[in-house]
Amino acid sequence: MLNIGCHLSSSKGFESMIQEAISIDANTFQFFTRNPRGSKAKDLDSKDIEKFLDIFKKEKFRPILAHAPYTLNACSSDKRIREFALMTMKDDLMRMEYVPYNFYNFHPGNHVGQGVEEGINHIVDLLNEILTEEQTTTVLLETMSGKGSEVGSKFEEIKEIIDRVHLKEKLGVCLDTCHIYDAGYDIINNLDEVVREFDAVIGLERLHFIHLNDSMNQIGSKKDRHQKIGEGFLGLDPIVNVINHPKLKDCIFILETPNDVEGYGKEIALLRSLYKK
Ligand code: FE
Ligand code: FE
Ligand code: ZN
Repeated sequence: MLNIGCHLSSSKGFESMIQEAISIDANTFQFFTRNPRGSKAKDLDSKDIEKFLDIFKKEKFRPILAHAPYTLNACSSDKRIREFALMTMKDDLMRMEYVPYNFYNFHPGNHVGQGVEEGINHIVDLLNEILTEEQTTTVLLETMSGKGSEVGSKFEEIKEIIDRVHLKEKLGVCLDTCHIYDAGYDIINNLDEVVREFDAVIGLERLHFIHLNDSMNQIGSKKDRHQKIGEGFLGLDPIVNVINHPKLKDCIFILETPNDVEGYGKEIALLRSLYKK
């Protein structure tokens, strides 16, 4: 069975998100833990969470993915900005324990001229400070396009971060098809080779989620502009090859294409029809 969902608005709470997901035949979803600008999170509603967990179990949902505000920068040169990322992520992880055994994804960040190595040092420090032995949440590093001074557009950079974190059993990776294509990984002509490289450098056992997006730009463009499935430079066939790849087909797929919920429903139906059991 294809495990697939999409990014949903969290403004109406967990029960509303899972109902919305069910209505478009999704068996997972992604949401922002708070406003992407990183403002204060809403208070948790225990009744809402209880109802959500009930449906989650009954419908045999796959794990869901919380996404950190993308404006956080764990590797800024400004200590206050790093501190803000740390406090926000720590708070998010505490809140994630109300929906235990799910996943939390974040962008490694921008090194803003300090260089990749210094950026990696900051990310490692942050992760070593926020991860706890008790947490049930797995934290995912997202593969990036390399826009600006983004860290994480090469598998080797992600690998180095994981290697240097003490509680590495709490870490994994979320691969974004638009980002890696924009970063220069040729998943149109060489998907097998890219998968082999991911396995050799990071290890496929770390790969839990795949953000399934087409790209508005060419390979290597480092732009990070998502396009609807089949309407970008990747095109439908390469994306269908991703969901059917023997080493990827058990991952959980999340659409982050420019769509409303109805549009997501159509993409999910299309991809389910092209998935080989
Ligand atoms: Fe992301
Ligand atoms: Fe993404
Ligand atoms: Zn993106």
